[in-house]
Amino acid sequence: MIYLDSAATTKPCKQAADAILNTMEESFGNASSLHKMGIRSEKVIASAKRTLLSKLGEGDILFTSGATESNNTALRSAAEIYRRTGNRIVTTAIEHPSVANVISKLEEQGFEIIRLAPKDHPDLAQALADAMDEKTLLVSCMAVNNETGFTTDVKRLYRLVKKKNPKTIVHIDAVQGFLKVPLDGDLVSISGHKIHACKGIGALYIKKGIRVAPLLFGGGQQKNLRSGTEPVELIAGLEAAVKAYHGTTEHFTALRSRLLSGLSELSGITVNSGDDCVPNIVNFSVDGVRSEIMLHSLEEREIYVSSGSACSRGKTSGVLAAFGIPDKLADSAIRVSMCADTTNEDIDALVSGIRAGIERFRR
Ligand code: PMP
Repeated sequence: MIYLDSAATTKPCKQAADAILNTMEESFGNASSLHKMGIRSEKVIASAKRTLLSKLGEGDILFTSGATESNNTALRSAAEIYRRTGNRIVTTAIEHPSVANVISKLEEQGFEIIRLAPKDHPDLAQALADAMDEKTLLVSCMAVNNETGFTTDVKRLYRLVKKKNPKTIVHIDAVQGFLKVPLDGDLVSISGHKIHACKGIGALYIKKGIRVAPLLFGGGQQKNLRSGTEPVELIAGLEAAVKAYHGTTEHFTALRSRLLSGLSELSGITVNSGDDCVPNIVNFSVDGVRSEIMLHSLEEREIYVSSGSACSRGKTSGVLAAFGIPDKLADSAIRVSMCADTTNEDIDALVSGIRAGIERFRR
């Protein structure tokens, strides 16, 4: 099996699986319990927080069910708490639905939304800052796009925004960027299952001095910001995965070069991911073979990739269009996303699979 769909989800690493099982067996107490078992669980959570903060900066960590919840908490909180700053929200046209759909809801509630597309703004970070006015309460931008790997320098974005208006809140969806690119933000969302932990756990980093409001009300866990008994096992798994993460830019860059060189020997290939993209995600289109056809043709060889344009129930997201990629190319786009364990042999097998798919299906 050759798994090249790590942007969709990653295989949980052994360290995460061991930590989850070990916590289930040894530290299964409720972190709110006053006895030793509760305290043991509390310690597991505190340690995971320290590990995450060592990667994200000074502040606090809210454990969530995943980045969808982190993004909802961040955006809805900012709109609720910082409304006094103003009515404008500046974002991009390439956000994941867990950001885009929350922002559309806020638009219905009367917020003014500015959405910028990379095709119109070669320097997206600068354009986002330029689109702010003194009444901008929030800037939300993903660090790495899940469909193409396109990267925005969010450290620079943070500096530009704060220079223009220190009161504007910066939210970063860092699901595809965490542990891969430098990050900064007032609120930063991450997801466990994209970094070899498991599904059902994520986090929201909250910079020192920034406030958030709860989505869930109940027993008051996590400083009353997210009620519900903390999933200590999943939190332990998340910490273990962060500690064990060993993907490197060098490894991904070498694999990307190998893939591009292999693809360059085939006809009718258009690479949609440019040099401004992380090397672990490569989106390309195969002229004359629709995405799904190629995906299933590769599947027959036990090679797993994604169709390059995230669609739900056959409706494309429009994200590739915001990069200036025409519909015809979007229809035949394939997304390959690698992990630390991806090998040269995996890439060679993929290129052979694409060649065979072209010979069989090109119209
Ligand atoms: N943001 C981005 C950029 C993503 O790629 C994803 C997952 N596809 C999410 C948010 C949602 O993450 P989760 O699955 O943890 O809810």
